[in-house]
Amino acid sequence: MIYFDNNSTTPVNKEAAEVILKYMTELYANPNSIHSFGVKVEQDLEEARKNISEILQVLPSEIFFTSCATESINTIIRGVTRANKNKGRKIITSSIEHSAVINTLKDLERNGIEVIYINVDKNGVIDLKELADSITEDTILVSLMVANNEIGTIEPVDEVYKLIKKKNDETYFHIDAVQALGKISFDLGKYKCDFASFSAHKFHGPKGVGILYKKRGTRMYPLITGGTQEKGMRAGTQNVAGIIGTSLALQKAVEHLKYMKSEIKQIRDYLAYNLKEMGAQILTPLDNSIPNTLGFFFPNIRGDIIVNGLSEAGIYVSTTSACASKISSESRIMKSLGYDDTNAKGLVRISLSYLNNLNEAEIFINKLKNILNFLNY
Ligand code: PLP
Repeated sequence: MIYFDNNSTTPVNKEAAEVILKYMTELYANPNSIHSFGVKVEQDLEEARKNISEILQVLPSEIFFTSCATESINTIIRGVTRANKNKGRKIITSSIEHSAVINTLKDLERNGIEVIYINVDKNGVIDLKELADSITEDTILVSLMVANNEIGTIEPVDEVYKLIKKKNDETYFHIDAVQALGKISFDLGKYKCDFASFSAHKFHGPKGVGILYKKRGTRMYPLITGGTQEKGMRAGTQNVAGIIGTSLALQKAVEHLKYMKSEIKQIRDYLAYNLKEMGAQILTPLDNSIPNTLGFFFPNIRGDIIVNGLSEAGIYVSTTSACASKISSESRIMKSLGYDDTNAKGLVRISLSYLNNLNEAEIFINKLKNILNFLNY
């Protein structure tokens, strides 16, 4: 099997999986219990929070655990909107955000919130002038992704932060950093924002853990109410095993960053070169993207035909993002880049992890050549 679908999800790091098992079967106390068993587990949970906050260069008290990035995103967008309704009713985002952001905003639009969708250029980079012109006194939030999940483009979020604060220093900035963490040198000292969302299963942590960063002093209401866990910002007993595994997985991902930047980028660029030779059009801007991602299409071949052909050979890639591919094979991102309906059905995404190697890339190219021959391409 060759697994090239790591932007959908990643295998859990083996050491992290061992730790998770330990906290599920041995150290299973509720961290909110007052007995010593609970206190021990609470200390370990807080140690994980501290480790994650150090990697992200923020305070432990600014980190909250949720069940996934979609929950972090919903909490931030809805919670900021409700807590700041006296300040305004306008939110700005881009046309290439993940459906977790887009569909949450569509829901808010039905409830009277004004949403502006900023355009992107052919490479998927946001139009900064359009963004600057859109920020007004009543703009409560700008929500942007750091790296795109389908084509990997890195957005100029540092410039965006400065621009927002210059135009209206009361406008909050949320970054969806799901596809950036573990793939580029990333911390919130460098990528400044007021809120951020992350997902453990994208960096070899388990499914079921999301991270939410909320800068000290910002105003946001919780989405899930109940007990006082996570300082009342996210009620419900924490997924302790998952969170402790996430902390270890993140540490391992950071240790592999050098490999990501060198070997994995070289493998990605090798694939891009060969695919181009075979007639593919490359969508990913190779010099401004996360190093593991390659979006491409063959004109007049549907992406699902290639994905299914490769799947029969035990090679796993994807069409659009996993969350959208069951509903439509058309890439909303490609449409935003200016491609027509036919080409937008052609997207194929390869996404590598630190577990992949060049030999797998060579096998991939050979298999794809066979498929194209079969299709008389
Ligand atoms: N944001 C981006 C950019 C993503 O790629 C994803 C998942 O693919 C999400 C948000 C949602 O993450 P989760 O699966 O943790 O809800």
